[in-house]
Amino acid sequence: MNRPICKRCLLRELDGEYFQSIYRYIENLPKEQKASGEEYARRLALCRTCDDLQNGMCVQCGCFAEVRAAKRKLGCPLEKWKKEGA
Ligand code: SF4
Repeated sequence: MNRPICKRCLLRELDGEYFQSIYRYIENLPKEQKASGEEYARRLALCRTCDDLQNGMCVQCGCFAEVRAAKRKLGCPLEKWKKEGA
């Protein structure tokens, strides 16, 4: 069955065992590589307003937004995560 594309959805809104393994991957990232919880939430809130988020994936970079946002050193390919004045 084909599922419709869910624009502005994160993986957490989709279901399936596959996604659980992605969450385990995020959980197990070394602490020094992880964005803070506050920064992670801020980034994902911005992704949720972005038309390039489809079925949990950023169509600009091909990453799952939740994985990209979890990695401290990664940024948005369109620089939407940049803080003002940074
Ligand atoms: S990483 Fe940037 S371009 Fe990709 S979905 Fe998030 S805000 Fe949009």
